[in-house]
Amino acid sequence: MSQFVACQTSIYAFSGKHEPIMRVESGTTLTIETYDCFQNQIQSESTAFTAIDWNQINPATGPVYVEGALPGDTLKVTIHKIELAEQGVMATGPGLGVMGHRIEKFEVKLIPVRDGKAYFNQIEFPLNPMIGVIGVAPAEGEVSCGTPGAHGGNMDNTMITEGATLYFPVGVEGALFALGDLHAAMGDGEIGVSGIEIPGKVTVTLEVVKNLPLAQPLLENADSLATIVSAPTLDEAVKEAVEHMIDLLLNRTSLTVSECTMLMSATGQTQICQVVDPLMTARFVVPKSILNQLQVKLY
Ligand code: CA
Ligand code: ZN
Repeated sequence: MSQFVACQTSIYAFSGKHEPIMRVESGTTLTIETYDCFQNQIQSESTAFTAIDWNQINPATGPVYVEGALPGDTLKVTIHKIELAEQGVMATGPGLGVMGHRIEKFEVKLIPVRDGKAYFNQIEFPLNPMIGVIGVAPAEGEVSCGTPGAHGGNMDNTMITEGATLYFPVGVEGALFALGDLHAAMGDGEIGVSGIEIPGKVTVTLEVVKNLPLAQPLLENADSLATIVSAPTLDEAVKEAVEHMIDLLLNRTSLTVSECTMLMSATGQTQICQVVDPLMTARFVVPKSILNQLQVKLY
């Protein structure tokens, strides 16, 4: 059984100063309801830019205090299920995303979603349901839910799906976990500044892993382990994502730096998460088959 968390309790920034909406034991499973990233404000394709309250954007449901989580620990988040509403919305406009300099007017489009498919005009394509915003409070200050960072946040990573497990560095007591910004579909990069934004529910288990200090979030799924890094440029994000993985492996194997670099050069995948949020997010993905042969365990 999971406890239900309604979307009405949401935050617009990850911060250690927020009062938790609930306290749970490590190992608790929650079903967390979320608004879409526009807080469900766009219900018609004639919605004007000025009709949207831009202070109510990218809500994340939470924060949830996890008992026993302290700085230096890791919050392990297992994503069991992502359930979507039946209609999503996309938006783009001047100054937004990669094409913002060539788009003259803010436009929105409602996208029906059913039977695992999205219907965009006459074009249909399969969904890849994922979570855009997910994370914990940073150690210091606050970070808007629209921005990614070492605490997680708006990573817009297409690997954050059902069956994935995320590991976040705990920044403050209780971790203060929150999530929101579901996408029915999104391409790597999220070039137009929105995926198919959609309300829904996510079922997760939250666990504290003691004494596992991480510098950045990690993602694990059945096939691979990935580092996730956000930085002002994609070049920096890629470099840090690679180095984070190399350090993780060097700390857990007897490989030399050059051996580890060669092995990762042969088998690791450098991939783009998003390029619009406004930091850039990259991931470096290593197959489990390699990690298993190296007998690497995260903890
Ligand atoms: Ca997002
Ligand atoms: Zn989104």
